[in-house]
Amino acid sequence: EFDVLIVGGGPAGAAAAIYAARKGVKTGIATERFGGQVLDTLGIENFISVKETEGPKLVAALEQHVKEYDIDVMNLQRAKGLQKLADGKVEVELENGAKLTSKTIILSTGARWREMNVPGEAEYRNKGVAYCPHCDGPLYKGKRVAVIGGGNSGVEAAIDLAGIVKEVTLFEFDTKLKADAVLQKKLYSLPNVKVILNALTTEVNGDGTKVYGLSYKDRATDEVKQVELEGIFVQIGLLPNTDWLKGTLELSKHGEIVVDHKGHTSMEGVFAAGDCTTAPYKQIIIAMGEGANASLAAFDHLIRQ
Ligand code: FAD
Repeated sequence: EFDVLIVGGGPAGAAAAIYAARKGVKTGIATERFGGQVLDTLGIENFISVKETEGPKLVAALEQHVKEYDIDVMNLQRAKGLQKLADGKVEVELENGAKLTSKTIILSTGARWREMNVPGEAEYRNKGVAYCPHCDGPLYKGKRVAVIGGGNSGVEAAIDLAGIVKEVTLFEFDTKLKADAVLQKKLYSLPNVKVILNALTTEVNGDGTKVYGLSYKDRATDEVKQVELEGIFVQIGLLPNTDWLKGTLELSKHGEIVVDHKGHTSMEGVFAAGDCTTAPYKQIIIAMGEGANASLAAFDHLIRQ
C-alpha cells in the first residue's frame, strides 16, 4: 500500500514521484514505459537550462534522479481501472490483474499525437515529419513547410511557423477551416501562408533520409498533386491516454482529465498532471512543473487525513 501512487512514468510522473519521496511518504510509480513521449524525441532545445539534449539522454537522467530516492518503480505495467474504496483509499487495477492501493493517486498517463496514417509518415518521423511547432519550428527556419489540419491547433501552428519559416502551406480535409474566426483572419493576413482546402493527404515523399514533398488528393477532382517542401507538421489532434478512465473521472470532450490549479480531479484523493489533463500547453518543462504541483497537492491532502 502506498501514500502516493503515480500512474504514468513520463516527465510529469517522474517529477511527481521525486517530490513525493522527498516528503518521506511511501511512493510508487506504475508505468507502461518509463520515459513516455520523451523516449521518442530526438533533439530537445527548450528544456530550460539545458541548451540541447536528446530524448533518451533526458530519460536516462530522469531515471537516475528517480533512483536516488526510495521509489518503487513498476515499469511495463499498464493500469486498466481506478476505483474508490469504502475506507477512502483508491485502488488501481493493472492489466496483469494485480491491484495496488494508495491513499492518493497521481495520474500522469500522457498523450499521443494523432497520425495521418499515410505511407512515409512513420519513416520520416523526426526527418521532416513533426508534431510540435514549439519544439521543432526553429529547425525549419527559411524552409518550406506544410501544416496538416485546419482546426485551432493547425491554424495556430501555421501562424507560429509563418514567423520562422519561408513558406507555410496549410492543408484541410474539409471545404472550410474549423479554427476560430479571429485565427483565420490572422492566418489569411499573412503573406507567406497558402491554404489548400478539400485536400486528403496521401503520402509523405522523401529521398530515403529526408522529406522533399507531400502528395495529396484534391477531393473535388480526385486529382493527386504534389507539393515540394522540407517539413510537415501534423496537427490533427492530441489523444490523451485516458480511455481506461471513462466513466470514473470527469473528462473533457477531448478526453482530457479535468483538473483545477492544484491538479485535483473530480475524485477525492486523485490528482492528475501533464499531457493527460486539461492543462493547455503540452511540453516537457510544463509536465514536470505540473507533476511537482500535483504531488505537493497530494501531500497537502495526506496531512489533512
Ligand atoms: P508522457 O510523456 O506521454 O508519459 C506518459 C507515461 O504514461 C508513459 O510512460 C506511458 O507509457 C504511461 N502510460 C500511458 N497509459 C498508461 C496506463 N494506462 N497505465 C500505466 N502507464 C501508462 N516537449 C518539449 O518540451 N520539447 C520538445 O522538444 C518536445 N518534442 C517532442 C517530440 C515528439 C516526437 C513528441 C511525441 C513529443 C515532444 N514533446 C516535446 C512533448 C513532450 O514529450 C510531452 O509534453 C511530455 O512528454 C508530456 O509528459 P507526460 O509525463 O505528461 O506524458
